[in-house]
Amino acid sequence: MTQNPTSSASGILLDGITDFRSCIAWAQKNNVAIGHFNISNLETLHAIASTAKKLNVPVIIGVSEGERDAVGVSMARAMVTAAAFDLNHPIFLNADHTYSLERAKEAIDAGYDSVIIDAAKLSKEENIALARQTVEYAKQVGSITGQDIIVEGELGYIGQSSKVMDKIPDGVGLDPDSLTHPDEVASFVAATGIDLIAPAVGNIHGLIKSGQPRLNIERIAEITAASSAGVVLHGASGIELDDLKAAVDAGVRIVHYNTELRVAFSAALSQYIKENPEETTPYKLTKTATDAVAKVVEEKLRIMNKMV
Ligand SMILES: [Zn+2]
Repeated sequence: MTQNPTSSASGILLDGITDFRSCIAWAQKNNVAIGHFNISNLETLHAIASTAKKLNVPVIIGVSEGERDAVGVSMARAMVTAAAFDLNHPIFLNADHTYSLERAKEAIDAGYDSVIIDAAKLSKEENIALARQTVEYAKQVGSITGQDIIVEGELGYIGQSSKVMDKIPDGVGLDPDSLTHPDEVASFVAATGIDLIAPAVGNIHGLIKSGQPRLNIERIAEITAASSAGVVLHGASGIELDDLKAAVDAGVRIVHYNTELRVAFSAALSQYIKENPEETTPYKLTKTATDAVAKVVEEKLRIMNKMV
């Protein structure tokens, strides 16, 4: 295990939030959800961090395995720590969808606040084993470093891509039997010791061109009541805002957005380059794209934090 020299966002105090665990408790107490937004560049981090600061709400930055490869595992930690320090604001870093124990260990070693171990596509036994091993490693490292590392598990397959798609991905079912069952959640949480659970409740990774399916709000409420683990809604891009609001009311504590930010960034960037073909300064090229991401983040954060 190697210890990263950068520290997490702990020590920053906003309404009793001192670390990620206290932030989840804060969301629970206030019946709100914390926004989780993915990055793969500095511009998007600035857009998310500055918007969270403006609204005075905590935020989570997510980096998937691919995004970690693009940014650098420790670089992502350093960037988010720097953003939290510069803004004096609670901004947490999550290792989003991690498919192996090796990569989970890498993020834990680098000082991430949380890690998602995603074995939803494997058998139930393999999923439990991998989640339990991740929890044990996080505890082992935490006992040395003093950091309280949060582990999230996944139950129910919702696809894996953050793209715009023609149809619902293969293997994703939307009927009540295909969605995550509350009883399974209770036994999975008990068997693994995870802190957060990501269920399949009608949500899908990626944007469906014809529109996202509706969430099963009743199932969300049953799942939030089934265990002490915080419930995380993945694949929220494109979900109707009324569904987002209802999901938070039903007890969702973290909501993930990625595809919508990518679409906003790339559309604004393409438009700017088309209109300004002579521009070569990177920060000028990306200004409207960064603003477009901030706009999406603000809309979602306002709803999650009941500011509308
Ligand atoms: Zn996800």
